[in-house]
Amino acid sequence: MSNNAINPEKGNKKFLNKLESMKIDVHACFQCGRCSSGCPVSDFFDLQVMEVVRLASYGMEDILLKSKTIWLCAACETCATRCPNDIEIVALMDVLRSLALKKGVTPAQPRIPIFHRSFLDSVKNWGRTYEVGMIAGYKLRSGDLMGDIKLGLDMFRKGRLGILPHTIKEKTEIRAIFSGKGKEYDR
Ligand code: SF4
Ligand code: SF4
Repeated sequence: MSNNAINPEKGNKKFLNKLESMKIDVHACFQCGRCSSGCPVSDFFDLQVMEVVRLASYGMEDILLKSKTIWLCAACETCATRCPNDIEIVALMDVLRSLALKKGVTPAQPRIPIFHRSFLDSVKNWGRTYEVGMIAGYKLRSGDLMGDIKLGLDMFRKGRLGILPHTIKEKTEIRAIFSGKGKEYDR
C-alpha cells in the first residue's frame, strides 16, 4: 500500500457521514491494537484491523474497498469484543463489503463474494443451506471445478453432504426477508 495515498484532508465525507449515521464511531479509536492482536485471521490480511479503523477515520474509502481484509474477515467479533471503545468493527467490515459490491470494485479475494452469493441463494431457495447445491453453484460461478474434491468426497462418505435438499416450512418468510419486505425489515 502506498502511504502517499493516505491523506485525511482528502477523506471521503460521504463515507464518514455514512459511518456516523450507522453509529460506527471510528474516531473513538486510540490505536491500542487489542483488535489486531486478537484477530484469528490477521496473518492473511493486507491491512490489520486497527489500520482499517484508522483509515476509515481518515475517510480513505478507496483504499479500504480494494483491500483483501474486508473479504477475509470471518465476522467472528473477537476484535469488537476486545475493543475498549466498543467500536462496531464487524459492522464496519459489513459496510465496506457492501460498498465494494455496490460500487463495482473488483474484490481482492473474488471467490469469497462468489461463495457468499452461492450460500445466500441456497438459503433463499430452501430456507437453509443445501450443501451440494451451494457447492455446485459456487463451482460453476468460480470455475474452480476440481478444488477441494477430496474434501468433498470425504464429507460425502461421512454423511456430511446430503444429495437431496432439506427444506423448511417457512420458506415464504425467508424469501420475504430477501425481498426486503420481511419482518426483519420492520425493526
Ligand atoms: S481495539 Fe478499538 S481502540 Fe484499540 S485499536 Fe482496535 S479499534 Fe482502536
Ligand atoms: S471479526 Fe474479522 S477482523 Fe474482527 S477478529 Fe474476527 S476475523 Fe478479525
